[in-house]
Amino acid sequence: MLDVETLRAIQPVITACVFALAFFGTYLPTRAPYAGWWSASAASAGIGSITHLAIDSWGDLAIAVGDALTVGAAACVWGAARSLSGRRVAAWWLVPAPLIVAAIALVEAHGDVAGMPGTLAVILGTGGYLGLAAWSLRGLLRHRSLRRGPGTLHAARVAIEAMVASTSIIVVFYAVRAVVYVTLGPEHVLYTHWTGPEATIVTVMLFFVVVTYSVTELSHLDSSLRWRDRAMRDDLTGLLARGAFMDLAEEALLHASGGGRRLVLVAADFDHFKQLNDTYGHAEGDRALRAFGEACRGLLRDDDLAGRIGGEEFELLLAETDLAEARQVCERLVAAFARSYDDSAIAAPTVSFGVAVADPSIPLPALIARADAALYQAKEQGRDRVVIADSES
Ligand code: GH3
Ligand code: MG
Ligand code: MG
Repeated sequence: MLDVETLRAIQPVITACVFALAFFGTYLPTRAPYAGWWSASAASAGIGSITHLAIDSWGDLAIAVGDALTVGAAACVWGAARSLSGRRVAAWWLVPAPLIVAAIALVEAHGDVAGMPGTLAVILGTGGYLGLAAWSLRGLLRHRSLRRGPGTLHAARVAIEAMVASTSIIVVFYAVRAVVYVTLGPEHVLYTHWTGPEATIVTVMLFFVVVTYSVTELSHLDSSLRWRDRAMRDDLTGLLARGAFMDLAEEALLHASGGGRRLVLVAADFDHFKQLNDTYGHAEGDRALRAFGEACRGLLRDDDLAGRIGGEEFELLLAETDLAEARQVCERLVAAFARSYDDSAIAAPTVSFGVAVADPSIPLPALIARADAALYQAKEQGRDRVVIADSES
């Protein structure tokens, strides 16, 4: 095994490479918060190990600062894991534990404490933060879109699994290290050979390599998903564009026919929209389309689909819904749409709806034709109403 001094000299070189890859290769082009936290972790670990090397000139202060930066690096891994799960991380949350560890190191250096609480504080602080990181990442794996996603999301799943596995391994390592340290002491062969500083540095370096792969992979995926999402959406309303709605609706119908889930298709069309455009201008028409898109996005659930199919024509595919509920959704949608005109000099355009229940035997185009026929009836009957397709009313 290499001696600890050599390993401590290699560690900053590896963390500097990791930092350069994470910061310049991933964070700067993407500004992804998790890549930022990961860069901070590499920087903190690298500077921490350099500081530890400065013990001859800095003395106890080198140990205190080095220990604080080591725990700070683990705290940043937790920051990266939390921001990957889309949760907030305030930088100041990460400050107290490293400060406590530094304080313990300084108190210990003055010789008025029994044992070696400084090392134990570093082990517990680092292990604790990595444990929190592993916990956040495991939660991410249970996320619905990752569980369900085919193709592109498979790579994300593998990257996150690699992160979970390496973080869990390092947490177990730190737990064993803490137990051996407390029960057998730092002189015991089990500690010096298997869980001492040398083994820790090698484990941490492997961890850095694996997580850097994952962070790079996730950032590529992030940008391709962002592009895909942009291509799938209608710019004006933020709802699905026609093609994407059709694809996702086909997929949902296929799933539903296997699992017996109830789906309802709703076709919606603004009433006398041409007149609104002609009277108040195209910009006012666009505002109405945007407001309707917002009302849909605010009201519909994750499993529902909403698309802008043409000019002022929309299709909604409602999951786990019956006809009475679908009617309520239309009414709530109209109410939300009208509310967005509360401060306006003009009223929101009224909307006509046609509703048809999905049936495993009916392909999507035929289902849309049924909802459209009901919508046509709504127009015929005077507009501003919901009509259920013939065979279902
Ligand atoms: P009906 O009640 O029978 O549905 O009448 P309508 O006037 O709503 O229907 P029609 O199909 O005659 O007119 C649709 C209008 O929608 C015509 C077109 O100018 C307008 N339109 C289509 N796309 C857009 C758009 O992106 N922005 C705006 N402002 N208007 C649009
Ligand atoms: Mg219309
Ligand atoms: Mg129309």
